[in-house]
Amino acid sequence: MVGAMSSNQGMVYDVLVLGAGMVGSSAALEARRRGLHVVLVDRREPGEETSYGNSGVVDGGNLFPVAMPRDIPTLFKHALNGETASHYHPSALPKVARWMLDYWRWSAPDKLEDTARTMRPFFAQAVAAHREFAGIAGAERYFRQTGWLEIYRKPESLAAQKRRLELSAEYGIDNQLLTREETLELEPHMKPNFAGSIWCKQADTVSNPGAVTKAYAAAFVAAGGRFAKGDAMTLAQVQGGYRVETEEGAVTARQVVIALGPWSADLVAKFGYRFPLGVKRGYHQHFKAKGNGFLNRQICDEDVGYVLCPMEQGIRLTTGVEIADRDAPKTPVQLERARRASSDLFDLGDPVEPEPWMGRRPATPDSRPILGAARRHEGMWFAFGHGHWGFTLGPATAKALLSAMAGEPPFIDLAPYSAERWT
Ligand SMILES: Cc1cc2nc3c(=O)[nH]c(=O)nc-3n(C[C@H](O)[C@H](O)[C@H](O)COP(=O)(O)OP(=O)(O)OC[C@H]3O[C@@H](n4cnc5c(N)ncnc54)[C@H](O)[C@@H]3O)c2cc1C
Repeated sequence: MVGAMSSNQGMVYDVLVLGAGMVGSSAALEARRRGLHVVLVDRREPGEETSYGNSGVVDGGNLFPVAMPRDIPTLFKHALNGETASHYHPSALPKVARWMLDYWRWSAPDKLEDTARTMRPFFAQAVAAHREFAGIAGAERYFRQTGWLEIYRKPESLAAQKRRLELSAEYGIDNQLLTREETLELEPHMKPNFAGSIWCKQADTVSNPGAVTKAYAAAFVAAGGRFAKGDAMTLAQVQGGYRVETEEGAVTARQVVIALGPWSADLVAKFGYRFPLGVKRGYHQHFKAKGNGFLNRQICDEDVGYVLCPMEQGIRLTTGVEIADRDAPKTPVQLERARRASSDLFDLGDPVEPEPWMGRRPATPDSRPILGAARRHEGMWFAFGHGHWGFTLGPATAKALLSAMAGEPPFIDLAPYSAERWT
């Protein structure tokens, strides 16, 4: 439980934030810091869904979005459904075909570069915003200022990063090419079965993303905010604002922020908004390290497609993308493939928990979140669809959104994230 709730029955809040993942908890904290009366509502405790189970990379140096392969041989390999980086449920394809086609279009090289340039100001703010929030929340102990490592098994894969490194240099992003030997100096317990790496130094990594999210929500409560359990689907527009039912009774506010991550489309559909918000499912499981092995930072095996993340719970192995119905039963085949492949790079021991975790990245085809005002509902704000990078972008999103809500000069220009692009 985040903190005690005051009853405040009958009060009209300034802001109601729906969803206490990284995005919603950050928005609530930022709103409260601005002196607004805020209530944060979730059906669970904060930080127990997607924001719990991710790889914990705060990637301030991020440039190109995670793209769909465009060349026929690679597409064919993925279509065979035996890859580690991807998996799909054939039964889901008819439903997601349109979204996949749009995603494929947005994965064209010129569009990727356009998105990289558009989103650069956002990612550039991400680490500073997190550090500021972590300072307020007393969550600094979860943060490591070590960057993260992209490992390339094949020299040609490393060479294929040329354009991205050129663009990184243009933006002053601190990425360093490392030889195998230099990589092993940073990570002495890795095995030398790779060609080299890129050390993405403009990233922080965390040792417990769920705990960081909970700490931000707790800081919100400590600052006088209110957290309530309730079902966001009960949201109704009422005179002068919005009302939602909670376990403590109805809560009313002048403005509402919808930050329900992969569940956001369900709620906005009730209000007549239809966006192409898909889900890219992903898995994790924690493993003990063998012997006295350890990792100093998150490492991504780029040629295979998984991440090894040193976490408080153990070494978290996280997977790539699974295309399936959001609520279909788990099929963690990628996790087993990744576990086998990881033995080339690092020795994992026994699993810490018996069951893999599954989460859903809330994903738009253009890899840009949906942020800003709802066109037909005054006082309603959207903040969802952060895909692969919602943990990174939560605090920067909060700052951008709250400055837009206050009518201030934009912290970040929200125009490219407007829901209008889909209408
Ligand atoms: C395997 C994996 C690895 C990842 N790695 C990274 C990474 O390294 N770095 C990074 O930046 N991002 C990463 N991501 C992506 C990141 O985790 C997500 O983009 C981010 O957590 C989304 O945050 P959110 O607040 O939008 O959603 P969520 O964290 O899912 O929060 C949504 C909240 O809404 C609540 N909710 C839903 N429906 C209702 C309802 N009806 N009523 C009340 N409450 C409701 C849920 O309980 C939940 O708390 C990864 C994702 C996965 C799956």
